[in-house]
Amino acid sequence: MKLERFEDPADSGNSPKWHTGKPCIEKGCAEPAGTAWSHLWCFKHNVERIRRIDAGFKALAATEGEQGGTLLAAAKKALDALTFIYAANKDDHDSADDVALASVLAELRDAIAKAGP
Ligand SMILES: [Zn+2]
Repeated sequence: MKLERFEDPADSGNSPKWHTGKPCIEKGCAEPAGTAWSHLWCFKHNVERIRRIDAGFKALAATEGEQGGTLLAAAKKALDALTFIYAANKDDHDSADDVALASVLAELRDAIAKAGP
């Protein structure tokens, strides 16, 4: 596995030139604070911190992907059902209800086309 820059002890961003002269803010840690990524944490705790943030973002992205997929599937079912109702009503497309339904159908179709693969 290739190390990211923040994880690589030999990276210039982890060199002593970033040290602030203060200790790491993590409780009980006496290592020197300061890397290119933060002036508050030592190398080891900065790595832990960024990995935690990264994991949080990945989990969030995965959740959004799943929910987006579920919503899209539901929207497609709704479009199918409404299209069927609209078609079954074809003798009466001039009624206000049907005009409104046609406009909702068009909006839904556009939204699905934009969101979907
Ligand atoms: Zn530390």
